[in-house]
Amino acid sequence: MFETAIAGSLPKPAWLSETEKLWPQWKLAGPELQQAKADATLLWIKAQEDAGLDVVGDGEQSRQHFVHGFLEQVDGIDFENKVTMGIRNNRYDAQVPQVIAPLKLKGRVHAFEAQLARAHTKKKLKFTLPGPLTIVDTVADRFYGDKKKMAFAFAELLNQEALALQADGVDIIQFDEPGFNVYMQDAVNWGVQALEIAAKGLTCTTAVHICYGYGIKANNDWKETLGQEWRQYAQVFPALAASSIQQVSLECYHSHVPPDLMALLKDKDVMVGVIDVASEVIETPEQVADTIGIALQHVPKHRIFPCTNCGLAPMSREVAVKKLEALAQGAALARQRYGV
Ligand code: ZN
Repeated sequence: MFETAIAGSLPKPAWLSETEKLWPQWKLAGPELQQAKADATLLWIKAQEDAGLDVVGDGEQSRQHFVHGFLEQVDGIDFENKVTMGIRNNRYDAQVPQVIAPLKLKGRVHAFEAQLARAHTKKKLKFTLPGPLTIVDTVADRFYGDKKKMAFAFAELLNQEALALQADGVDIIQFDEPGFNVYMQDAVNWGVQALEIAAKGLTCTTAVHICYGYGIKANNDWKETLGQEWRQYAQVFPALAASSIQQVSLECYHSHVPPDLMALLKDKDVMVGVIDVASEVIETPEQVADTIGIALQHVPKHRIFPCTNCGLAPMSREVAVKKLEALAQGAALARQRYGV
């Protein structure tokens, strides 16, 4: 009960890349970079195990950014000539590559880090991929001319990689769709359908993570404009409840999401965000257990999986480690308090 996991990303060590940045520059190149990525992956697997988490991941140490790490292995994308584009409905500008031809995978995308992680942990292994709708919002389209069409093309590529990750021994494949909280109507009209294409044929556990973004200034400023009740999930959750995706990761602690929206997910597993990624303050086990207690009012206990609100990538390493420990300790306390 109350199996713990993180949303996905973790800070990169200072010897691997710039720190506390969303799009950090690598500090090495070639085989040295590959070795450093491997070292960082193993370091974080150990840190997650030491903290006491039940499900571990690679911490996204091998990708510069959660979307562009996937795009780097796709043919039909011009990575050399990036353009500035407002993303997440113009919330902030990003340097994005351009789609210039039909999309096709160059080969495996994440085989190296997935196989490495699998070989070094006996815990359940979760692996994250960007969701189709969010990819479409993080790349400039010069070819398809239609968001849905391009999303479905990306979904087919994601499906190829997801099936290969499953064969590598990954237990949970999670698609990250922060875009679902920005383009709610698109999410309902075709985003969930694209997600199901990406997850087609998977027999491992499937999940989607929907958040209000990393704890960066642009996101924190945006949250200030969303009012006292954040009801974005109310539009998307019924569509997800009717879908084949099994788990939904959502933001809860320190958010203005009305907790009763969790009930809209019906019989889905709910990864409840009990750790704030927009604050350096470390949660106490009591605070984590309290948040789990709030979720219990709307979701049966066997369907609750305590998690972080979002990735921890832009935080300091020290804070991230402490937050992992708070997550595990809080879930342990909740098992005592609300246990069977
Ligand atoms: Zn997130």
